[in-house]
This record gives sequence, structure tokens and C-alpha cells, in this order.
Amino acid sequence: MIMTSSESSNARRGLPPLDRLLNHPAVACLIPLYGRDQVRVQARRVVEDLRRRLAADPPPSEAAAAGAVAGLPERIAAELEALLGRPLRRVLNATGVFLHTNLGRAPLPAAVARRMPPLLDAYCDLEIDLETGRRGQRNGRVERLLTALTGAEAGVVVNNNAAALVLALAALAKDREVVVSRGELVEIGGSFRIPEILAAAGARLVEVGATNRTRLADYEAALGPATALLLKVFPSNFRLTGFVESVKPRALAELGRRTGVPVLVDEGSGLLRPHAAPQLAGHPSLAELMSAGCDLACGSGDKLLGGPQAGLLVGRADLLQNCRRHPLYRALRPDRTALAALEGVLRLHLASAPLPLDRLWPDPQAHRARLERVGLETGAEIVAAEAFLGGGSAPEAPIPGEALALPGDDALLARLRQGDPPVVGYLRQGRLILDLRTVAPEDDEALLGALRAAKS
Ligand SMILES: *Cc1c(COP(=O)(O)O)cnc(C)c1O
Repeated sequence: MIMTSSESSNARRGLPPLDRLLNHPAVACLIPLYGRDQVRVQARRVVEDLRRRLAADPPPSEAAAAGAVAGLPERIAAELEALLGRPLRRVLNATGVFLHTNLGRAPLPAAVARRMPPLLDAYCDLEIDLETGRRGQRNGRVERLLTALTGAEAGVVVNNNAAALVLALAALAKDREVVVSRGELVEIGGSFRIPEILAAAGARLVEVGATNRTRLADYEAALGPATALLLKVFPSNFRLTGFVESVKPRALAELGRRTGVPVLVDEGSGLLRPHAAPQLAGHPSLAELMSAGCDLACGSGDKLLGGPQAGLLVGRADLLQNCRRHPLYRALRPDRTALAALEGVLRLHLASAPLPLDRLWPDPQAHRARLERVGLETGAEIVAAEAFLGGGSAPEAPIPGEALALPGDDALLARLRQGDPPVVGYLRQGRLILDLRTVAPEDDEALLGALRAAKS
């Protein structure tokens, strides 16, 4: 093989030829992640850069030069990562916060995730009736399951709860008035603020009551010929306490029925049915909102429901038909990945099967045995710790229980975060706390491995 002049000068300085570098196992494994072209370009850049540094006057020491050559694969990987980002990774969440927005909100039940690949790497009967061969209803399955689970007449599924709210407002209240309590004009996160959502949907906001108190009479006084909807929002990411008063969904629904104005409740977390946990005692489920007579209710798919990102809208069939006919519906519809995951999760709810959320309230004895097992191998102690639903769901209501504690600092926390698999815990009074209530028991071995590696 004939070397180019730069390759022959590389060879003189101990730099590997590009092709040999690309075949180095630590570089070759980058090709499936970033593509041969990108890896080649970055490898050439890194080698050229090193060649310049080796040619500097005075030159680096032999040892430094050898170290730099040996470190080439690592440099190439770092450059590619900086340029194209790291692939998404599975993370063990040992924070005890179930809905961690930064970690992807709710984990799918393993049983659902396992059934997904064959539905995704081929075609599926998303929109065809296999019996007749005719076109079917794409969202029909999940919508029927939703009505069975909530007692609603009908359901509509879109990309997320923000989309559900926008769709309902655009379809039912465009150029008309929506009455909302001043205590519920909340920001949910990012730029999702109720007044702005209303404006984006073309509806006019009519504020009633005061920040801390709103009564039924306030809503009643605001009703007029232009009123399209009464909107109630469960501001799940904060609580007003003290001298407060708000109108219960049932009372608002009665007012709506009496005056012929539909009531929409943004429940937020996609809680389908009442939950026994005391932390959720004050939070109405979609089923309860339906039986209280609310015309529509909406919630997220990836919060307490424990599914994929989705927005669930349930309630009166005639109102939801208007939502389906609105042009935005087509723009907001979920893809088959989300629909397949949502269907799987809804079927688990229907079967009352265990879900990842239930791990927040483990059997105390079984949980202690688990902590002892993991703790024994790592010298961790068992301490009292609070878990949380998180994600704007009853944030102020801690779930008491136990977790593991190890001597630790920011450095250990960072090593765990950068380990394999990455583990996210938290520090409390100079100790690393690992709350296993948000870790699947099947992941205990992987957690132990990551912990051993981070401590050594
Ligand atoms: C979380 C939340 C939303 C937004 O839901 P997304 O699915 O994230 O769009 C809206 N309203 C309430 C009350 C919420 O808690």
C-alpha cells in the first residue's frame, strides 16, 4: 500500500494510520452508533490535531506522546459524543421520586414493554378491521378501554395532556368564554400556563373568585350568552393552604347541568380510578369525575396512569365528537408506538395487575428483606426515607418508608450517574441515599454491580 505523505509522517511519530485506527475495537464500536463517515471525519481531525501537537517546538515528552496516542480512541469517542450526543440510556432511578420528569416520567410496566417490539418492527392492524378488510378506527381500542375504566361515554386520545386541553378548548370554546377560578390559573411546567393555553386555542378567559377562595356563586355570576365552558384545573404541583375554598367538581357539574354549560376538569395525572394511598386521598380520579357528572375530564398518559406520553380526554360522546372533527385532532394524534403502549397499560389496569406505581407502597417485610440483601453486599445501612409521587402529583405528600444509606459525596453521586447502568440517587447529610422503591426488583443485580464499580 502506498502511504500519503501525511500518513508516512504519522507513522514516523507513532501515529496509527487511519484505517488501523478505525479497526481498533474502541473505535469500531462507534461506527454503528454514529456511522462510518462521521467516525472517519472525527478520527482524522483528532489525529491531525495530535500530529500538530507532536510537531510542536519543544515536542512533548515520549511518555506524554505515547499517552496521547493511546488515548486516541477515547478522544474520538468524546468528540463524537460532543457533536452528535450520546444515545439514550436506561437509567436506574433510586431517588424515590416515581414521576421524575428528567428521567422520562413513568416507566412502562415490563410486561407491556416486552410485548411492544413485534408490534413495532412489522406492520400492525392499527387502522384495519382484519375480519372485513375495511378501514378501522385507529384509536378505537384505547378509547373503548378508557370508557370501560372510567365509566365515561366516550374517549379521545392525543399526544399529551396539554394537547388534550388545547383540542377541547379549540373545538368547544373558540371565540367564546371559558370561566376559570383565579386559584387555578396555574403554570404546570415549561410555558404551559392556563391563560396562555386558552389564548392559543382562541378562547377568552373569564377569571372568577380570588386566588385563595372561589365559590359557586362566583362561577354563576360569570355565566352569560358567550360562555362555552366551565374549566376546573387540579393544580397538582402546588397546594394552597389556610384560608382557602374552591368548588368541588360535583357542585360545578350541577351548575353546568342547570345552566347548560359543559364542565371540563383538567385532572392532570391520568388517575383512572380511586387509589387507596393516603397521599392520593384528595385527588379525584377520572372515574370519580365522570360519576360526579362532569362533562369532560382530561389527564396525562405518563403520570399516575403509568403509560406512555399521551393525553386522555373522556366524557360526553357529543362533545368528543366535536373534538374529533376539529382539524387539530389530526395534528395531535399519537403514533402507534404510544397507542400500543397505552393499550397494554390500560389492559393491565383493567385486569388490576400490579403496576410500577404500586412499588411505592411495598410490603414492609419483603422490602426490608430486599434492602438487607442489597445492603449486605455494599455495607449500606437501612434508614428511614421519604418517597414521592413527583411530576406534579401530590408533591407535598411524602410516602414514609426505608432506603439504603452509604457514606457518600458529590463525587460518588457523579460516578454512579456515569456508571453502567447509570444510577441516580441523592445526598442527605453527607450520605448517599438509594431508595429502591423506584427501582424494579429485577434491576437489583445491575444496581449492585454499578454500586461496586462506583465505590472501587
Ligand atoms: C401535567 C399536567 C398537565 C400537562 O400534561 P402533559 O401530559 O405533560 O402535557 C396539564 N394539566 C395538569 C393539571 C397537569 O398536572
